[in-house]
Amino acid sequence: MRILGVAVTVALVASPVVAYAQTVPVDPGPIGKGKPIIGTTQNLPSLDSSDPYDAGPGFAPQLRGIYENGTIRALQKDVAKQARQTIRAWQRQHPKASKPAVIFDVDDTMLNNYEEYSTNDPAFSYDHAKDVQFALECKATANVPVRRLYRQLVADGFRIGIITGRPQDQRSATRDCLRERGFQEWNTLITRTDATSSLSSARFKAKARKSLQDKGWTIVASVGDQISDMSYGRLKYGFLMPNSMYYLP
Ligand SMILES: [Mg+2]
Repeated sequence: MRILGVAVTVALVASPVVAYAQTVPVDPGPIGKGKPIIGTTQNLPSLDSSDPYDAGPGFAPQLRGIYENGTIRALQKDVAKQARQTIRAWQRQHPKASKPAVIFDVDDTMLNNYEEYSTNDPAFSYDHAKDVQFALECKATANVPVRRLYRQLVADGFRIGIITGRPQDQRSATRDCLRERGFQEWNTLITRTDATSSLSSARFKAKARKSLQDKGWTIVASVGDQISDMSYGRLKYGFLMPNSMYYLP
């Protein structure tokens, strides 16, 4: 159950900055362990909040604006470009690294759930049943700039790890949907299991990254739409895709 925290989102969502071609360093928060995180100004604030929240219907006009007028896609493009440059520079400097890898999140990173949240009632609130339905029926679209980045990294020889907070029983639907949306290959897809279902998203994802490091992977970057995709370290760089719809610790 998500907690509605409309007041917290006012400052940012009410005055969306159309920051084309602007990536900025993001404060990683107290659990970010000082790792450099590059993002945009379109994420919800309070990145150290321990409660989830949704933007809610009060911001529907602004959110529909930035998701439908190309702002979000332009910002994703900026972050993806910065990610490619940074990761390639790292690759050149570390030609002998063990199993260099990049981690991707699924929801609102590889796949775009705007349609789901926009049509929820109330708009931009969380509806669990609909969330499950959207996942099982593959109703999300691809985030094209993220898919381009993913394909470039595959071509560059990186291992791809997908770490998603989706539960195990959505695993095969998620796998099929990613393929249907043009994400054809990866080395591992990690979903939540009974053992990790109670962990925060940040803890679950860091634990998953650790399991990959234990197999010799060098995690160069994590690409996600939440600071919890890159908290508690175990990565070199974080790249934060814009998401003004919700926040998940
Ligand atoms: Mg996500």
